[in-house]
Amino acid sequence: MTTTNTKNIEEISQLESDSEDEGLFDNYCSNCLLSFSDPASYRNHYKSEIHHYNSKRAIAHLKPVTLEQFEQRKQSTLFYYL
Ligand SMILES: [Zn+2]
Repeated sequence: MTTTNTKNIEEISQLESDSEDEGLFDNYCSNCLLSFSDPASYRNHYKSEIHHYNSKRAIAHLKPVTLEQFEQRKQSTLFYYL
């Protein structure tokens, strides 16, 4: 069971080494301006709704929302207008 986890972490470290010269933190999402303490949370974040939402906002040149703002917007019609 634990061997698959180790494999995933290794894959992520390989991906991260590409952005090393940009001076970003480990496990940092530049779309959402969020950093994560471990590769697993970082990986989950990429699959999360807020990340997809902020990715759409980035395309529209809008600032990312925080998790708190995202939860509020999800409950309002604003959610459908970025
Ligand atoms: Zn993100």
